[in-house]
Amino acid sequence: MFENGLHHVTAFSGPAARNLDFYRGVLGLRLVKKTVNFDDPGTYHLYYGDETGQPGTILTFFPWEHAAPGRVGIGETQETAFRVPRASIGYWAHRLLAHGVTHEAPAQVFGETVLPFRDPDGLALALVGTDADGGEAGWAGGGIPAEHAIRGLHGVTLLLRDAGPTAAILSGVLGFREVGREGASTRFRSDAHLGGAMTLRAVGDFLPGRPGAGSVHHIAFRAADDAAQAEVVRKLNEEHGLVVTEQRDRNYFRSVYFREPGGVLFEIATDLPGFAVDEPAAGLGQALKLPPFLEPHRAEIEAALPKVA
Ligand code: ZN
Repeated sequence: MFENGLHHVTAFSGPAARNLDFYRGVLGLRLVKKTVNFDDPGTYHLYYGDETGQPGTILTFFPWEHAAPGRVGIGETQETAFRVPRASIGYWAHRLLAHGVTHEAPAQVFGETVLPFRDPDGLALALVGTDADGGEAGWAGGGIPAEHAIRGLHGVTLLLRDAGPTAAILSGVLGFREVGREGASTRFRSDAHLGGAMTLRAVGDFLPGRPGAGSVHHIAFRAADDAAQAEVVRKLNEEHGLVVTEQRDRNYFRSVYFREPGGVLFEIATDLPGFAVDEPAAGLGQALKLPPFLEPHRAEIEAALPKVA
């Protein structure tokens, strides 16, 4: 059954090797695709997810070896959260400290237990312990016992001047509904267990964000296929006056992009065809994969990329 919700989150990071060490080695995610930025092939594009890289589990990075740090501000994603079972929060608090990752004290937010921490570039992350059971199996291949493993994305928090215009897009087009308010934050949910939580934090006048290491570039929402994506595009245009880009083939999904009224870059990505389109599911993420239009340049691309394990 198709579910509305996040498809993936894409951020900038510092060196690729350090990024791999953290997301595979500490968080136990699976590297489900090692490719390059199709728009800038001198840069890796690393995709992390669950065992099969299903939509709603994906966090991706453009690593730069000499990245300047970004700054979180208005019109940006402030925090990216993963979902774990509520009973696993204690396991994770110990694991993070054992790996030298400091975390904030767990807090109750919208009835869920939230453990905030940062990645080596300062990207704001959180683990959200929830009783909601989507039946997802944890992946034990990343060195975390399956019972504690990250299930996928929980959702993101957007920092906005004013929540109203963004809320209208979430509820009018993207399949979310408002479920609660706490202080400056409004929580929206979709029917998806993975990537089904969006939080809008309205903070009034504040500095705009600046892209750089540790900042999120865009967030992507799911569309089942091209027809469903076209319907979202039609609604955005006819009901909200928003113009989206032409469709771009990202090899593992097909995407359109637009800047929502609060300033955050949104993408609508198809579930199809998925990450097993160009390598076997059992061997995801091991070889450098290039789209057909870059394959003739493989030798020079490989020579320019930093070496990673
Ligand atoms: Zn994307």
